[in-house]
Amino acid sequence: MQRFSGTNVIVTGAASGIGQATVVRLVAEGAAVFAVDRDAAGLADTVATSVGTGRVMTDVVDVTDEAAVVAAVRAAHAELGSVEALVNVAGAHRTTPIASLSVEDLRDLFEINLVGTALFCREVVPLLPDGTGVIVNVASTSAAHGNPYMSAYSASKGAVLGFSLSLAAELVGRGIRVVPVSPGTVDTPLTRSVAVEPGLDLSAFDRIRSPLGPARPEQVAAAIAFAASPDASYLTGLDLRVDGGSHI
Ligand code: NAD
Repeated sequence: MQRFSGTNVIVTGAASGIGQATVVRLVAEGAAVFAVDRDAAGLADTVATSVGTGRVMTDVVDVTDEAAVVAAVRAAHAELGSVEALVNVAGAHRTTPIASLSVEDLRDLFEINLVGTALFCREVVPLLPDGTGVIVNVASTSAAHGNPYMSAYSASKGAVLGFSLSLAAELVGRGIRVVPVSPGTVDTPLTRSVAVEPGLDLSAFDRIRSPLGPARPEQVAAAIAFAASPDASYLTGLDLRVDGGSHI
């Protein structure tokens, strides 16, 4: 499939896990990708891993830095000539029992997960073409139901979900689609950091109750690529859960 031939896409969180798998998938399908992350070594690995008819260029950016985000979107536009799609994957996770929840952790999660996503949307929306422009924001099933010790993370992802649904309503008149994608448990460095948290009872965690078991990043990337592609041209403003049946 070459669904992204001639399509220019900005992907954040592109150095690892779901974001890296998304870049690999989009490049394989012909996209020109402007890949953003704060991890320069990981971005180099993404470039080395991406093969196909598309191409990838990178920019080391902290998504919470407003000036850096503005500059990155300008650079993407200058390099690519146009921007047809944005995929916000950058995110952070903390396992925080309520008794030890710090304001610093809470602010940090909202800064990365919500503010970073919102800033990229704000900067990219004016560039997107009416009728075909698309934004995919990675939320989480944690936004919709509980996972133990993840109140702060879940709240930040609930914010991403609400932000995305309202943005979909705001942009529908221009024919621009906004699709939040909510993965369940995916086997990435982020999830492995949850697993090693000492002394916590994670028996109510999504991973345990997902009938299909943890996803591979490529399985979520495939759903993101679908949501961003013309195959999903009638799909906007819904929470696309990619959760291995954790809601059953
Ligand atoms: P990951 O840790 O493998 O990748 C996250 C990427 O985001 C990393 O490359 C990291 O450097 C980047 N990043 C973090 N903070 C940044 C910042 N301030 N500026 C720029 N880049 C930054 O994690 P993943 O599992 O691939 O997660 C990707 C997204 O999917 C996240 O938004 C996460 O919340 C979401 N998600 C993951 C799971 C899961 O089970 N892994 C489940 C639901 C949702």
